[in-house]
Amino acid sequence: MAANPRAQAPVRDIVDYERLFDCVHCGLCLESCPTYLVTRREMDSPRGRIYLMKALAEGKLDLDQSAVRHFDLCLGCRGCETACPSGVHYGELIEQARDWVERNYRRPLGDRLRRFVIGQLFAHPRRLRMAVAPMALAERAGLRSVMQRIAPAAIRHWLELIPPLARSERGSNFHRTSQRASGFASPKADAPAVALHTGCAARVLAGHENESAARLLSAAGYRVVTLANAPCCGALDLHGGNRERALCFARANIRQMQAVGATAVTTMAAGCLTTIAEYGAMLRGEPELAAQAQTVGQSVRDLSTLLGQRRLRFTRPFPCTVTYHEACHLAHGLKVREEPRRLLQSIPGLRMVELPESDLCCGSAGSYNLTEPAMARVLAARKAENILKTGADYVVMENPGCEFQIAAELRRRGVPIRALHLADFLSLALEDNPDWRPDA
Ligand code: SF4
Ligand code: SF4
Repeated sequence: MAANPRAQAPVRDIVDYERLFDCVHCGLCLESCPTYLVTRREMDSPRGRIYLMKALAEGKLDLDQSAVRHFDLCLGCRGCETACPSGVHYGELIEQARDWVERNYRRPLGDRLRRFVIGQLFAHPRRLRMAVAPMALAERAGLRSVMQRIAPAAIRHWLELIPPLARSERGSNFHRTSQRASGFASPKADAPAVALHTGCAARVLAGHENESAARLLSAAGYRVVTLANAPCCGALDLHGGNRERALCFARANIRQMQAVGATAVTTMAAGCLTTIAEYGAMLRGEPELAAQAQTVGQSVRDLSTLLGQRRLRFTRPFPCTVTYHEACHLAHGLKVREEPRRLLQSIPGLRMVELPESDLCCGSAGSYNLTEPAMARVLAARKAENILKTGADYVVMENPGCEFQIAAELRRRGVPIRALHLADFLSLALEDNPDWRPDA
């Protein structure tokens, strides 16, 4: 066999080195990359970051603050994957690179502390619930804005992102009941079962989305089984560079998902959907779980696809103007783009207006808006400007993180446009649920 010249390079175990050569440096992804659009620096583009990975892998570059900075600034949005004609799996490369960075680079103390808090809080609903309890109390007393103003600068922007907690609390216990009464006729015993992963941070901050989703799925004739004890899906760690913990979470989830015997698995967060869909790839090296991981991954469906498959019908007129923001991992990871639009367009009286740059990241990107607030704010502002151009009453998306990020930016601007998750919006259209009216 002829020697592979690439294999002769002194390769450090950063990423799947061979896959770096899928990139032919054409640059067609550059204008789809949010960070490149903002900084116009090659090293903040997908191509530039692939150069960096290669130089690091070949030992031509030391892992220093500058290289880490370019990796940190990447949103992991995968807009570059959609744009790339060569099929570069950039998402997997950056996740591998981040894992290597976290194992080989000592971050400044403040940075380490921030990442530690995020990892210990957001993947654990009970801890997060305790952490936001003072905020919920302040909100009930009408002092939320005061609390935000007097909070230390380091966490002020975190607090701004937290949605109104009174509404969140109404659905926060949803995960404790499986097969919760939906208000619709109970689906038949032989109806297709959907396993609903209720998330970790989303369970606390957007429990109502799970509740709305379960009601819609029931109305569409599915039997909903909530995965009450499922841990975090691992997305947070995967994107943050802690692959080992992400794999632990993945293994626990696969066992639970397989045990309930559902035909489909869903969750309301797009990043989580993509992570679960990729369990097969994540665990391909583990013979005892690889096949199950593959099965679980292949059963992942987002809400719009599930509802579209059962042709959920909307008969009540709901006159309003709506624009649709595409969550990155749904559009670029799972390639679900038309299904949510089709559902929205099927609502009588509703006028759809296309959002300019609908698939450009809003800056939420998992915990990115907590670790990179400056870039996240620039992207949120760009998104808000585009939303304003549409004249919409509602901006709808299929990801709680995007909802928090966009809603916070609209609140800052005092704009009366309501940002809602697709589950909540459809619930409103179907039943006129007063919880989701613009003035709720
Ligand atoms: S994942 Fe997003 S931010 Fe990162 S390089 Fe690709 S397009 Fe740019
Ligand atoms: S990632 Fe794809 S689109 Fe971007 S430079 Fe490489 S080959 Fe071209």
